[in-house]
Amino acid sequence: MAGTLYLVPTPIGNLGDISKRMAETLAQADFIAAEDTRVTVKLLNHLELKKPMAIYHRHNTEAGGRAIVNRLLSGENCALVTDAGTPAISDPGEELVARCAALGIPVCAIPGPCALVTALAVSGQPTGRFTFEGFLAMNKKNRRAHLEALRQEQRTMIFYEAPHKLTATLQDLTDTFGPDRPLTLCRELTKLHEEVRRTTLGEAAAWYQKNTPKGEFVLVVRGAEKPEDLEPTLEDGLVLVNRLRHEGLSLRDAVKQAAKELGLSRNQLYDASLSGGGDAAKP
Ligand code: SAM
Repeated sequence: MAGTLYLVPTPIGNLGDISKRMAETLAQADFIAAEDTRVTVKLLNHLELKKPMAIYHRHNTEAGGRAIVNRLLSGENCALVTDAGTPAISDPGEELVARCAALGIPVCAIPGPCALVTALAVSGQPTGRFTFEGFLAMNKKNRRAHLEALRQEQRTMIFYEAPHKLTATLQDLTDTFGPDRPLTLCRELTKLHEEVRRTTLGEAAAWYQKNTPKGEFVLVVRGAEKPEDLEPTLEDGLVLVNRLRHEGLSLRDAVKQAAKELGLSRNQLYDASLSGGGDAAKP
């Protein structure tokens, strides 16, 4: 029987975020697949664990993934970790999970630290509907296409960004969404110098033109405003009256109901129905 691939999140800055289940899963796995063994060894030392490790990072997903899958197929259990946060979220792991899913190898995700969820929760922006955009591409054409596709996006948008690219990204976001668009800039979440700045794209872009960005950032950008609901017109009223008439209502009742639903004047709608209301006035 195949073993299980466990996706084990690790702290994004605060070792206090290690959960009992995370620690137990690492302790019980036959081996740990890590993005950078030097980073993971520090975590294992903290937990007083010694484990065989395999390397799995974005440059060896093919060979590294095949080797891990073979061990899983032979019955070993693997705990996948990355340098910080939840594996497979803008991190190595996505391909490995897909490979396991295709082969019917069980995958178990342990819930835990994830920068995008932490940032969204603290942002003060609408959280009911959101879209995670990850990192913008470096390539200018792809970057522009990505931003263009978001121009009308009404959901809250979450971006990851590295400090050396932050200034350019803030400028590109400002150019796309305008300087007044609300932004929550989350820096060094869960760390000693955690900062949550509720500002606008224009202000943040101007600030980082003058101040060098330091640390890790998540940008939570408010979605576009909904277009104002258009006021119902007499035309809309006539369409509704016609529909209600076809459903069997008398002209008087159809006008009454349509006027109430759309907030129109009953008399005006009645007159319009009698004069130019298509088949509204027909019995
Ligand atoms: N898998 C990780 C997760 O669950 O969030 C994300 C890994 S991705 C390679 C790294 C990016 O996550 C950083 O560039 C930054 O945008 C964001 N990030 C990670 N830790 C953070 C922190 N403590 N504060 C703010 N952003 C962080």
